[in-house]
Amino acid sequence: MTWTKLGEEFPDEAGDLTSDAFRLHVEALAWSNRRLLDLIVPKRDLRRFTFVTDSTAAVDELVRQGWWQDCEGDWFIGMKFPEWQQEREQVEHRRAANRLSQNRKRKHDIGNHELCIPGRCKYLSSADARADSSTPSGSDPDRFGTERYGEPLTTKPSFEEGKFPDRRTDLVRANDEAMDRLRAVSS
Ligand SMILES: [Zn+2]
Repeated sequence: MTWTKLGEEFPDEAGDLTSDAFRLHVEALAWSNRRLLDLIVPKRDLRRFTFVTDSTAAVDELVRQGWWQDCEGDWFIGMKFPEWQQEREQVEHRRAANRLSQNRKRKHDIGNHELCIPGRCKYLSSADARADSSTPSGSDPDRFGTERYGEPLTTKPSFEEGKFPDRRTDLVRANDEAMDRLRAVSS
């Protein structure tokens, strides 16, 4: 699932476009995001994503009005407001982070804490965290863990200068470490 973002000013900014061009531009943005094309849409894709009948005229208009750039086999469709869309790298990073987080949660819920982040998992905060991962069933490690899981790193948000980036860095580092452990486990 990807998202296509349109700033609130988009309808005004695109006020001079015909309905066809407006529609085609939105269709192309969604296509680019769905395929992670970073706003470079192959011309041969056109018929696969547009419902505009006279798409050739609409393309000409978008190029003429400076929304698209004609680049031989492709159109670059990010001449205006490219910053609204997420780059492939960001999307892939987010997906990897989501996968890791789901993986961690799944393992955590069955008492395996090898991917858990210290400070966010009760079983990792204790000295014998590793031993806990072999807790026999019946002692119900799930309940407490599930409740604790997902709590923010600190419960009280602090917006003091420097605090937020530091905390983010910690989380990213913890994620990277967990990612390494995941690789080690699955290899
Ligand atoms: Zn855990």
